[in-house]
Amino acid sequence: MFLTQQIPRIHSHFFASPKTPKFFLITSALLSNSKSPIPLPPPPPLSHFSTLTPTVPPPQDPESLQLSLESLFLPPDTDVSSLKEAPLSARILKGSNIVLSKFAGHGVDVVNADFVKSSVKTEECPSDGAPEFALVGRSNVGKSSLLNSLVRRKRLALTSKKPGKTQCINHFRINDSWYLVDLPGYGFAAAPHEVRTDWAKFTKDYFLNRPTLVSVFLLIDASIPAKKIDLEYASWLGQNEIPMTLVFTKCDKRKKKKNGGKRPEENVRDFQELIRDFFKSTPPWIMTSSVTNQGRDEILLHMSQLRNYWLKH
Ligand code: GDP
Repeated sequence: MFLTQQIPRIHSHFFASPKTPKFFLITSALLSNSKSPIPLPPPPPLSHFSTLTPTVPPPQDPESLQLSLESLFLPPDTDVSSLKEAPLSARILKGSNIVLSKFAGHGVDVVNADFVKSSVKTEECPSDGAPEFALVGRSNVGKSSLLNSLVRRKRLALTSKKPGKTQCINHFRINDSWYLVDLPGYGFAAAPHEVRTDWAKFTKDYFLNRPTLVSVFLLIDASIPAKKIDLEYASWLGQNEIPMTLVFTKCDKRKKKKNGGKRPEENVRDFQELIRDFFKSTPPWIMTSSVTNQGRDEILLHMSQLRNYWLKH
């Protein structure tokens, strides 16, 4: 069993560890009455917060989302004790366990997105010190689609799908101030073994030795049950205390499969159950779809709060 801390590089000691679990019931009444006590610059629209649509629906009440305080991701400098329950619950981003902090909001919109370079070694990556977020996941998880959806371009991520670039660390500069990093997909059965080993080696080196890496965004396909290789990846990140956000993709695929397949919400819940022991505190997670753009703005808000905190510390 691995017990490690989440987001250790920037704020491991900020996580709340309450003795008594508290539950937040998100209802429409609560949301419509809630006002944030935290002075946030500038307040994001309420539509980004949890609504009646349940993410992990409790068995008793399908109209609400119930999350214990321990299962929330509390960003750094978020003092839970000074918040009343209603405002805290109203600050949970829609389809996620992420609480929005005072650091969210600045630089959320993607105005410019440019491909900068492909690197085969960590030392070759851009050296300007700008903060970065790395997207990684199994081949076919929807990484290119998500990247394109985040930057609102149809084909930007195709750059990293070109022959010769798929095994590289691909840097995209956003708003001239931070990077989205596209890492090679793992678990591609057709790749020769030596190549697969090499990818693992250099991506792991990147995770361990890239000081400007604010958080890894590990993409998991929510339309299928958890895969062993995804669990191993999450476990490795947890063991090595690499800050991580879980991004569940393809959450629009709602139909039950004939062979007993589960709905995305169920797969999301199962995955979290399976990785629970890898981390001391629950990692941030968010449900997305590149088809409906679900979670797009919420990911960008989450990135903004991690980035703004990182820049100030
Ligand atoms: P990558 O290999 O991880 O870069 O995956 P791609 O972005 O190329 O997507 C792989 C396949 O999944 C393509 O057929 C996409 O159209 C599909 N796909 C990607 N994202 C989504 C999504 O959010 N919903 C659905 N339904 N399909 C998706």
